[in-house]
Amino acid sequence: MKAIVLKSTGKGNAVKIAYEDRPTPQIRDPHDIQIKILGVGICGTDLHILMDPPLHPASPGIIFGHEFCGQITATGSAVTRPEIGDKVIVDPHPACGYCNNCRSNRPEMCENLFLHGEGIEGQAATRGIFRDGGLASYAVIPAHSAYKIAKDTPFSRMALAEPLSCVGYGIEKLKIQAGETVCIMGAGPIGQLFTALAKANGATKVIVSEPHKYRREKALKTGATRVVDPTKENLKSVILEETNGLGVDHCIEAVGQLLMAAIDMVRTGGKVLMFGHDETANPNIKLGEIVKKEVEIHGCFLGKYYYEKAARIIESNILPLDEIATHTLPLSEYEKGLELLRNGQALKVVIFPEEG
Ligand SMILES: [Zn+2]
Ligand SMILES: [Zn+2]
Repeated sequence: MKAIVLKSTGKGNAVKIAYEDRPTPQIRDPHDIQIKILGVGICGTDLHILMDPPLHPASPGIIFGHEFCGQITATGSAVTRPEIGDKVIVDPHPACGYCNNCRSNRPEMCENLFLHGEGIEGQAATRGIFRDGGLASYAVIPAHSAYKIAKDTPFSRMALAEPLSCVGYGIEKLKIQAGETVCIMGAGPIGQLFTALAKANGATKVIVSEPHKYRREKALKTGATRVVDPTKENLKSVILEETNGLGVDHCIEAVGQLLMAAIDMVRTGGKVLMFGHDETANPNIKLGEIVKKEVEIHGCFLGKYYYEKAARIIESNILPLDEIATHTLPLSEYEKGLELLRNGQALKVVIFPEEG
């Protein structure tokens, strides 16, 4: 089968990905399933891995792509469900179940997700980053990481399951209620999913701050009640105007550098969710502001127990996901997908394999 393989990471001009032949993976563990890949989203993390120097670690030699979904073509002898023929979304971070985090109710922070190893540790490694992922015709994954979804669901929506699970878990942390107000900083695919889900949860005002026009216009279609260009308008003034001088109940930071600004946007007792991930960010924090305003600050990284809900949300089509999955391209045009994203001409690009 054809696959997009991560050839190298690190500094220099070495070839980083290649479109090449790989053997079709076969089931070895009785708890595994083989799926025919239907779609694979290109993630901001993938772009970070391919940067020079990379902003995210990964294991060279693996089949790339962690946001994948498929249809089951074979099941191991111990698997009773899901069944052959089922369409499934995939949790690419299959927690080990044995580490300290897994055994203290934090499977999404499994200590073995970032390892490239064998045995129990290797089983947990994130697919498409530290072990073979979805940019190919077939993948073999643990059955417990696959979640059945209605057969008539388009692959372009199914491929949003992983980011939607991360976002949905973040929204659960904030407990957004009907009638509340929300500010979202950054309108990439993650910011757009937050916008759509905040609106679906009943937020009456969803104010989205984003410098790029294409993304602002999209946000108006995914649920924003007001968009702001922070290079031209004062976000704080807009928020005070929109909330009768109070500030928003929730501010979601999907950029990675704007914690202080986010704290500034919320009302007394408001909540801030840090989702944007920038390891280089080291902001000056006015601690007095957090104390005085009694701000709740949450970090959010990966989704916890959200894939079952993600499957129900995606198949019922209650969110404007087709506005977010803007492009579909065949596997052989993967690099074109990267270019569209780097040039800001797409939100989510979903790749599909050409061959059976
Ligand atoms: Zn991702
Ligand atoms: Zn674990």
